[in-house]
Amino acid sequence: MKQISFLSKDDIHSFPKILAKNIKDFYPSGSKIGIKVHFGEPGNLFAFTPAFIKQAVQAVQNVGLHPFLFDSPVSYDSPRNTVNGYCQVIKEKGITPESMGCPVIISDESITTTFNNLEYSICKPLINTDGVLVLTHVKGHTCTGFGGSIKNIGMGGMSKTTKRRIHDSGKPLYQEGCIECKECVINCPLENIRLKDNRPYFDQNWCCGCSNCVYVCTSGCITPQKEVFDKGLVAGVKLALDRYPPVFYVNVLMNITRLCDCVTNPGPRLAGDIGILFGDDIVAIEKASLDLIIKEMGEDVFLKEHKKSPLVHIKIAEDLGLGHLEYILKKH
Ligand code: SF4
Ligand code: SF4
Repeated sequence: MKQISFLSKDDIHSFPKILAKNIKDFYPSGSKIGIKVHFGEPGNLFAFTPAFIKQAVQAVQNVGLHPFLFDSPVSYDSPRNTVNGYCQVIKEKGITPESMGCPVIISDESITTTFNNLEYSICKPLINTDGVLVLTHVKGHTCTGFGGSIKNIGMGGMSKTTKRRIHDSGKPLYQEGCIECKECVINCPLENIRLKDNRPYFDQNWCCGCSNCVYVCTSGCITPQKEVFDKGLVAGVKLALDRYPPVFYVNVLMNITRLCDCVTNPGPRLAGDIGILFGDDIVAIEKASLDLIIKEMGEDVFLKEHKKSPLVHIKIAEDLGLGHLEYILKKH
């Protein structure tokens, strides 16, 4: 059973020391380590601060490793959807090679492969390195319930083209046979479905492709355009992990907002601050994150808020052999 270690919010000042302790013997000595981080949309006050990111960089350096920070441009309408635009955004946040003390790479450069007859372009910088540290702010997400390490790689580690393709693949297609049960209407997180003339209508421009309507349809009359969102996302993770050097994960359960770091106003917190998790099993750390949040709040707040439990994509990751749902939590 995999061990996940836990640093309580009350001891958060020990984060650099505990991170260093966790990774000290994990990577080959002197390795170049790509830190995958989401720098956040301009104006988002809950994404990682430059000071926190720098703590992670220094912890990596303090054990004799050579980090660089990495993220890729987004596919939606944002100043972060070009390399130059994203570089400008992080510069304005105060994130530069000089301030961080290491290279900062924003790149869409990728290699393309296929899975289930669908194309995936995986960003190269995390392939062409000696080790990867996935540093993730866990927060709510419309498509997956929450965005954790799986989302950080399965979306954030893919090219813009693949990001868009995964979302589009999960969008609904009506076949025939609607019985007007209204389950799709009730369970669309974006209130994007209306029933008319004995069938559902979707606003494809507004749809995020989460595939929730596909999952809940009682007559099976809605299919995804190509593949449900969660399977597309997790396939991206599998293809990336197949090519990455050793990967270690850090999930930060603080400022757990309703929406993700991709928006300026992510809404209220869905849960209180909990702490930070460390581990080398992506399924175990995601499951431990969800379990701790459910324990803190007494319910699956993501299922309640976004109509989909994060367990959907976490279980798919286990099915694809990416890790284990069972884990042992060790407190620091
Ligand atoms: S894919 Fe998601 S957002 Fe789109 S219509 Fe279905 S439930 Fe709504
Ligand atoms: S869930 Fe399926 S059967 Fe029910 S209203 Fe929606 S499309 Fe029709």
